[in-house]
Amino acid sequence: MRDETHATFRKASVVGLDYVWTEAACHLIRERKPHLTLVHLLNNDATHHRRGAQTQDSYTANAYADMCVSRIIEAIDEAGMRESTTIILVADHGFTLTPKAIRPNVLLRKEGLLTVEGGKLTQAQVHVIPEGGLGFVYCTNPAKAPQESAEVRKIFMGQEGVADVLLPDRFNEVGFPHPREYGQVPDAILVAKDGYGVSGSVNGETLVASYQEAQTALGTHGFLAKLQKMNAMCILSGAGIRSGGKLQGADNTAVAPTIAKLLGIKYPYADGKPLSDALDASIDQ
Ligand SMILES: [Zn+2]
Repeated sequence: MRDETHATFRKASVVGLDYVWTEAACHLIRERKPHLTLVHLLNNDATHHRRGAQTQDSYTANAYADMCVSRIIEAIDEAGMRESTTIILVADHGFTLTPKAIRPNVLLRKEGLLTVEGGKLTQAQVHVIPEGGLGFVYCTNPAKAPQESAEVRKIFMGQEGVADVLLPDRFNEVGFPHPREYGQVPDAILVAKDGYGVSGSVNGETLVASYQEAQTALGTHGFLAKLQKMNAMCILSGAGIRSGGKLQGADNTAVAPTIAKLLGIKYPYADGKPLSDALDASIDQ
């Protein structure tokens, strides 16, 4: 069976998809007056990756997201729900400009810790999986991992573009369990300096390359949360929110418990606590 709607939706640009999702949310708000509506706009992230952060393109993407939000607020007004509605705008990360990249697997290849044949990885004692501004270092033989991860730290510390290499004894700093406790956790975490993304490429001759050569993005997130540029916004407004307040920061894990509190729903298993500083006295604390 041919589903033309689905096919044309798949062909739409990310800008077009944001528009469809926004209009769908507006339609549901007007017609069904839901208790909770979640909208995830994607163009902002896509544009910041492709064109970089703090650029003309990224500011245009911010303005477009703003327009999508204004459409949703209009729909809330048209539904006659403004007085009873709380609007919460959040993101799960910031962004930084990364014109350069580090390719840790190239260095591991040169150290003989991984093998590449015909441009493809064929065998690895140690392998780095990129995650934005971090590289997760995996040692494939668990018995040798403590020794090998310490060696990896020595290899990378002091190299251009490397800010730090965290071994498991420091994983509590970043909220990771120890690899002994959870097998999918890496054996070390390579942290790039601001301005450098991490590439998974096993090919090339130098650790550092341009983002084009390393095939990474011009804009990147996924650095450690202590890099200030990784901070995201958190704006709360409307019913139940104390007006004029300024939060000193908010954990991502606080957002869902705050929503539960506003809806009067019990949420006992959440890691985070509601943002009580943002809530007004009418909400039972
Ligand atoms: Zn992203």
